[in-house]
Amino acid sequence: MPPLAPEVRGLNLDPQTRCLHYHSPLDIIAIKMKCCATYYACNDCHDALANHPLQPWPPSDWHTQAILCGSCRAQLTIAAYLECNSVCPNCRAAFNPRCRNHYHFYFAISAKPASET
Ligand SMILES: [Zn+2]
Ligand SMILES: [Zn+2]
Ligand SMILES: [Zn+2]
Repeated sequence: MPPLAPEVRGLNLDPQTRCLHYHSPLDIIAIKMKCCATYYACNDCHDALANHPLQPWPPSDWHTQAILCGSCRAQLTIAAYLECNSVCPNCRAAFNPRCRNHYHFYFAISAKPASET
């Protein structure tokens, strides 16, 4: 088994990076935050544990590896993650498609809700 690296921070973190806030079977990614270059399970964990505001990644940085698959612990670039259709390109684990609704917390993207309802 690969070691549990890189370090991921979060509340009630499990080995696949689920946290207190997002803990469905699909909530297995962690995101490295631009502001502190540290992986967190989600933005709420960052807010709870870091004492500074979260800073989203600008598009010019989307070639950076900043997404961690909690299933295989592969690190994906932001661009690869945004194009992966909620499936890990490395291990084919399913990610939570509703994360799309939170992209704007992490990535400087023009937020488009998944549904207009
Ligand atoms: Zn931070
Ligand atoms: Zn969390
Ligand atoms: Zn994976």
